[in-house]
Amino acid sequence: MLKKSEDTGGAFSALYDSKTGKTPDSERYEVCMSSETKAGEREIPRGIAVIHDPRINKGTAFTSAERKLLGISGLLPPKVMTQEEQAVRIMEAFHTKSSDLSKYIYLTGLHDRNEALYYYVLMHHVEEMLPIVYTPTVGEGCKQFGHIYRRPRGLYVTYEDRGNIEAVLRNWPNRDIEVIVVTDGERILGLGDLGANGMGIPIGKLSLYTALAGIDPALCLPITLDVGTNNQEFLDDPLYIGKPHERIQGDDYDDFVEEFVMAVQKVFPSAILQFEDFAFHNAIRLLAKYRDRVTMFNDDIQGTAAVTLAGLLSASRLTGQDLTKQQILFFGAGAAATGIGQLIVERMVEMGMDRDEAMGRIWFRDSKGLVVKSRDDLAEHKIPFAHDHPPLEDLKDIITRVEPTALIGVSGQGQTFTEPVICEMGRLNDRPIILALSNPTSKSECTAEQAYSWTKGRAVFASGSPFNPVEVEGRKIVPGQGNNAYIFPGVGLGVMASRATRVTDRMFIVAATTLAGFVSQDSLDSGCIYPPIVSIRDVSAAIAVAVAEEAWASGVADGEPRRELLSFVKALMYQPEYPIYA
Ligand code: NAD
Repeated sequence: MLKKSEDTGGAFSALYDSKTGKTPDSERYEVCMSSETKAGEREIPRGIAVIHDPRINKGTAFTSAERKLLGISGLLPPKVMTQEEQAVRIMEAFHTKSSDLSKYIYLTGLHDRNEALYYYVLMHHVEEMLPIVYTPTVGEGCKQFGHIYRRPRGLYVTYEDRGNIEAVLRNWPNRDIEVIVVTDGERILGLGDLGANGMGIPIGKLSLYTALAGIDPALCLPITLDVGTNNQEFLDDPLYIGKPHERIQGDDYDDFVEEFVMAVQKVFPSAILQFEDFAFHNAIRLLAKYRDRVTMFNDDIQGTAAVTLAGLLSASRLTGQDLTKQQILFFGAGAAATGIGQLIVERMVEMGMDRDEAMGRIWFRDSKGLVVKSRDDLAEHKIPFAHDHPPLEDLKDIITRVEPTALIGVSGQGQTFTEPVICEMGRLNDRPIILALSNPTSKSECTAEQAYSWTKGRAVFASGSPFNPVEVEGRKIVPGQGNNAYIFPGVGLGVMASRATRVTDRMFIVAATTLAGFVSQDSLDSGCIYPPIVSIRDVSAAIAVAVAEEAWASGVADGEPRRELLSFVKALMYQPEYPIYA
């Protein structure tokens, strides 16, 4: 049995106490040999099981005294190493892996063996690790999930569990959950329906919550709703990990999600529920259905909107034209595109623009052509943005007619920003803003190199998946990554810090303006409209403060705003330090 030597009032598995807000940095734990476990203490195993529990395991970092105390003397190599030394070994092995997928598998193994070391490595090598634990490699990880599966992580709620979902949630060992990321696997990145294999996404996103905003991993829960898949390749694959049936749809699907959301309210009442990678017809509908009922948001819609708005705000410092001067054309008109469009309109209105005029600045081109009023095939979410304009299909023709200052790709269609398209943007603008946001890399509408070389280095470019710096006409240009990871971890931390009961659009606007405020002149001069990823924990803390202040100001959090909020938020942030067992 393990007991904190200084009682901070929380359970071992919940280093953050949601009532007191206390998070000890490097904890001391007393190992008690008595058989009784009191509240606030967690029974931990002795002997070999210690090494097999990733939350407790320190591997070769267990001291000789700890090894004796925990009954693991002899079960580890004799040399006692520091966490730093262990990390050197991990990085050495990581670099011997010949493919990104094998790096992903290796890191997953580390996550399963030694959680603190996993986060230590992630946080100290964030730039190198982000593309492995998240896009683009996580996409490959999801496609192969059944084939590379080793150990379970997270909760799977299947359609067969209907009527019994609460009991399934109660199987999770920890009640103090603060953040849940849930997917139904229907639109994983730009890769389509990956069914239960989509579990890689909530796992990856929650790793980012911890690494980038310091949400204690013990407070995070990845969930996959397995409602089937229409991916025939998976249905035919004997190693597919989900139930091999077609997707449940319509009222049956809605009833199932409703039961799940209500069960979460009962079993994990403090949790923020982040919807991730649902197909657009469900994403938009479920957001509208639940946003005023529970503490939830949809990252593909709202997180993407905020990171893109931040990029546009920074880009306007490079182009010399503020947001209200922009004319924005979206390629793609799904959940992400219309979410971004809506948030831009809200911000333009806040900046003093008339709403109709702001709506008039936003244009969409979907798979059938320009979104115009004369079309009778428009989905409901596109109708408010339909323009009184003749129909047009060809993207370059649309650009010539609409004269956008910014072209934003959220279509999931790779290589669609062709040379004539980019050149036309370059003809119309001194500094054309080109954001190719579709993920993973293969779906990016164009590469950084294409955007820069076809505009002779004038493009202000960012993408969803990362690209390396590009040299154009002797100048090195650094493309930005419009990664939602700049936004959602900080928003989650802010909601947690204020105990807000709703996640509002205004929170995403303050997150975006805060993020844009972190972009230095040096970054802008190098071409990059986002801050360096290495500063992301500071960005997340600042976003959390802004979000928490907004929660109190708008009345979605109770009580008085906390004083010294930044220190409070920073104190909540998990550090991957090993506890000391004594
Ligand atoms: P979605 O399925 O809701 O929308 C896709 C849209 O693209 C639809 O409107 C569809 O009509 C349109 N489309 C398809 N083919 C087209 C074509 N040939 N021409 C024009 N439009 C076409 O998906 P979503 O959630 O909006 O995501 C779209 C893409 O954006 C994905 O690749 C996703 O990975 C990416 N995304 C990136 C970020 C980010 O980088 N921050 C965040 C969210 C989504």
